[in-house]
Amino acid sequence: MTNINKNEMLALFGGNKTIQRPFKRYNPIGEEEVNAAKQVVESGVLSQFLGVWHEDFYGGPKVREFEQACASYFGVKHAITVNSATSGLIAAVGAIGIEPGDEVIVSPWTMCASATAILHWNAIPVFADIDPETFNLDPVSVEANITPYTKAIMAVDIFGHSADMDVLMEIAAKHGLKVISDAAQAPGALYGNRYAGTLAHVGSYSLNYHKHIHTGEGGVLVTDDDDICERLQLIRNHAEAVVGGKGVASLSNMIGYNFRLGEIECAIGIEQLKKLKTLVASRQNSAARLSAGLEGLKGLRTPVVRPSCTHAYYIYPLVLDVDGLGVSRDRIWEALVAEGVEGLSPSYVNLHMLPMFQKKIAYGSGGFPWTSEICRRNVDYRHGICPVAEELQEKSYLGFAMCLNDLSDPDVDLIIEGFRKVWHQMESLK
Ligand SMILES: *Cc1c(COP(=O)(O)O)cnc(C)c1O
Repeated sequence: MTNINKNEMLALFGGNKTIQRPFKRYNPIGEEEVNAAKQVVESGVLSQFLGVWHEDFYGGPKVREFEQACASYFGVKHAITVNSATSGLIAAVGAIGIEPGDEVIVSPWTMCASATAILHWNAIPVFADIDPETFNLDPVSVEANITPYTKAIMAVDIFGHSADMDVLMEIAAKHGLKVISDAAQAPGALYGNRYAGTLAHVGSYSLNYHKHIHTGEGGVLVTDDDDICERLQLIRNHAEAVVGGKGVASLSNMIGYNFRLGEIECAIGIEQLKKLKTLVASRQNSAARLSAGLEGLKGLRTPVVRPSCTHAYYIYPLVLDVDGLGVSRDRIWEALVAEGVEGLSPSYVNLHMLPMFQKKIAYGSGGFPWTSEICRRNVDYRHGICPVAEELQEKSYLGFAMCLNDLSDPDVDLIIEGFRKVWHQMESLK
């Protein structure tokens, strides 16, 4: 230590922190949203939904205007607002006709709602492994997990990069499956010339407070299918009380909910959507600068973006070669946090390892649906079924939240400096 000065010494060991000032918090809400919300409040109509067959079954003016704007923005026939993406995924699973005991293949590397939405209809989540570069469902593992009971695939565009939708849709067509696209983290990301979320039978975006654009809470579903659209609208708004009046013949999965989004949220959403391109572009600029600055650090892999895709960078994912570096991921994470790098997370999630799946207890205490006769085989959730996701979770993944702070170029440069300092002093972490 004698010939290392305070600037070179890692903050973890008492040296000076690289980042000594706070960054500006990410906040996409501005004057436009304030005015839009104010107008709704002043109108006195905060929601106009009626849960019966009536013109207002479809909601009030702001709901309809926001849905029109979303449909036109994302280039789809229908957009359906809901009060969260979690609600949206539940509605989507019901709308595509999933029945009790049906199997739906889902990624373990996603937010829990992607899997629990399946359980809401007493269907069985089956976890397939992920691709080590994009962290999305690996089509080879998806095909290996198809059984006679498989009815759908829940594809997730994790961190902001689209899943390999052409290949997944091809597999789905071959096996007669429906596909749901959970694009909560990827609004505005491109797959070819189409937006992530629009390439499946139904897609879902989140408008919660932590996402690129938000309305506090909220979600948007998109589909080109008229029948799926109608079913989504019914499940959103008390289907059982509406099907009679509306003359709906198919009563399957027509237990409705109140998943309605309010007028204030939709008025805010209209303004947020106008900002989406700019907000995503700013994340992309920061990510490009980060990648350029981190390039060449040994044993560190910056995000992979597939040709013809763009990344929305909800999270900027890194992968460490911990064996080559000879230092554990958690130790490196500690050192980076000590340098003042904010928003770093040393793991993501392996849903199959959650107590619910490990103990196979969802509804009640008796192990339903897995112990019920509707579940026709012994579905495996043991450690080892998703080796790629497990290795990333336990050993090598490090993610950087991009919707936490609004990073300027000098901020990004400071983060790069923090990484470089840790890398130059890597020996001292051994
Ligand atoms: C945020 C998120 C959801 C759920 O969104 P809510 O609007 O909070 O319900 C679902 N899936 C993924 C991948 C998410 O990141």
